Parts: sequence; structure tokens; C-alpha cells
Amino acid sequence: MSTTASRVKSSGLADIAEKLEAGQRLDAVDGLRLFEAPDLLAVGALANRERERRHAGRTYFNYNIRVEATNVCVASCLFCSFARLKPGDDGAYTLSLEQAWDKLRARAHQPLTEVHVVNGLHPDLPFSYYTDLLSGFKRIRPGIHLKCFTAVEIAFFSDLYAMSDEQVLRELMRAGPDSLPGGGAEVFADRVRKKICHDKCDGERWLAIHRTAHRLGMRSNVTMLYGHIETFEERVDHMLRARALQDETGGFQAFIPLAFHPDNNQMRRLPAPSAADSLRVHAVARLLLDNIPHVKAFWIATGLDVAQASLWFGVDDLDGTVQEERIYHMAGATSPEAMTPQQLRKLIRLAGREPVERDTLYNVVAS
Ligand code: SF4
Repeated sequence: MSTTASRVKSSGLADIAEKLEAGQRLDAVDGLRLFEAPDLLAVGALANRERERRHAGRTYFNYNIRVEATNVCVASCLFCSFARLKPGDDGAYTLSLEQAWDKLRARAHQPLTEVHVVNGLHPDLPFSYYTDLLSGFKRIRPGIHLKCFTAVEIAFFSDLYAMSDEQVLRELMRAGPDSLPGGGAEVFADRVRKKICHDKCDGERWLAIHRTAHRLGMRSNVTMLYGHIETFEERVDHMLRARALQDETGGFQAFIPLAFHPDNNQMRRLPAPSAADSLRVHAVARLLLDNIPHVKAFWIATGLDVAQASLWFGVDDLDGTVQEERIYHMAGATSPEAMTPQQLRKLIRLAGREPVERDTLYNVVAS
């Protein structure tokens, strides 16, 4: 018996390993056992086996930038250190269109493949601000992939501008977005949402917006904010709800656990999740989400050390170069604000994996 097999057996997970070997789907009880199993390395070994079966040693990243055009927001998410501001409040900002476009113009020399746009929920901007923002990016770099607006923002636009979610998506698609990011999912369970983000769209609407986006031909991702007040059961429930939608549409590309950061927000009394918890969340996601191709460690949130280790715990993607990230750094993230493609390649190689630069849709750009 190999060391891994005996480790899995002595950790009481042999039946789960057998299910995985037979290609059988894990259920909620299995998910809970994986969260509760004392031997983290046994869970990691199972996740690593699934990761290598799909992707061998390949680890994806992309060359992207973030644009956060405004941090003015009418919502009051307890974990947010980025926004909850009114226009004119100290620290509140809204970029003019020219200022936002300049962020892309300033990168004219860089072979970026993606602009990732997320914002606060600004109560006073016209809808044309967003469509102009996107069409301007496309004018400046016609080939760039725009990954824009979380489902929470889409729901907010629908309510503010009196359109259906589908109308908003269709109008935005005319202006440029090619896919939706996975943010705003937090934890789907009502109990958690009511406590930490009661005034934004609920889990069902978040999923419905992604269902619609997938039907309209867009791809998207799904995140989970972990390490605050959620239970193991609620983590498993979140993953299984994402899996159920993926069974319907096949539109999710990646599952992205996001570590809660406690600085400068209303949940600052809670500790940040441990490295062990972060590794386990990524590993369990790889094991439960048999139909989502990629599990991503967002290195800005996990930190670089955990991101490297996670490549042996089910993760096959490290997001990208990012550049100018504000949301996590305002919540106390100590990771760098940007990495060059060369730095990411080195980080991946030092972890014993093979770097592959991809575009947003996982076409290989360079290996
Ligand atoms: S997480 Fe998003 S919706 Fe919530 S307060 Fe922050 S910016 Fe607003």
C-alpha cells in the first residue's frame, strides 16, 4: 500500500477515496467528513490526485489588471473594507471615464489579456457610465477580454434602472463584457447572508443571474468567502448549490475560495482563517466540485505562501498578475499588489508545478 493510500485509510477516508476512484459523486455527508477529518494531509492527497488527473502539473495564470471604478456603495457588508461610502465621504472615489480608461492606456506596452472590473453599488451614476466604460476599454484594446460586474452589481443595476436582470446583461453585452466574475457569492445560506450582507441580492438571485448569463453565452466563475461565521455545513451547501447550477449550464470555469480578511471592517474581532483552513477549503472544493474544471487560489487573499502550497491541495490556477488590487489591501492583505508574469512563473516553478499563461477562457497563451 502506498504512503498516500495508508494515510487515507488511517484517516477514515478510504470509502471516499474509493468513491472518487470509481468516478462516483461525493455528497454533503462526504463534504462534511472532509472538513472534519483530522488529517489535513490525507484530504490534500485526495484533492491532489483529482487535480493531477485533470491538469497534471499545469498551473494556470493570466496577465490581467483590475479596475475598481468607484468605492461608493449603498450596501453595508460587514466584511467589506473597500466601500460602504457615500459620495463625498473621506476616502470615497469615483473615477471619471477618462481616468478609468487611462489605467488601460498606461499598460499599452503590456500584453494583457483581461481587464477585471468590479465596483461598489453607486446610487447616482447613470447606466451609460458603465456601458461607456466598457465600450471605451474595447476601443482602446479591441482584443481585450472584459470580465465585468458581479451578479450583485447586475442585480443592483436591474433594481436601480428598472430593468430585468436579463435586460441588464443584454445591454451590457452590447457594450463589451465577455464574462462575469464570481464575486458577491459570499456564502449562499440565508442565515449567513442576513448577518453579513443583508442588503445585497440573496443567494438564489446570484445563482439565477449566472444561470441567465450562461444561457446568453457568457462564462463566469463562482467564489466563496470563507473563514468568518459560516459553518462547515454552510460551506458544503454553498459548494453543492454551485455544483447543481453547473450541472444545468456548464458555464462556470473556476471555483474561487476567498479568505476573509478582518482589518478595517465591522468583523475585525474575528481572526483571519488559518493556513490549514485555507488549504482544506481549496482541497474540499476540488473534491466536491467534480464538474467545475478549475479551482483557483486568489493569491492576494491567501498570501503567496499558502497559494504555493495550495498547488498540492487541489488548486490548478493562481488568477493572474492582478495589479492595483484595492479591495483586499484595504482589508489588511499583506500580499503584493501585483506580480509580473515572470514572478508568477517563478512562484509556480518553486512549488514544483508547471506554469501556463492562459487567457480568461483558458486558451493557452504561453507555456
Ligand atoms: S462587498 Fe461590495 S456590495 Fe458589499 S459593501 Fe463592499 S463594495 Fe458594497
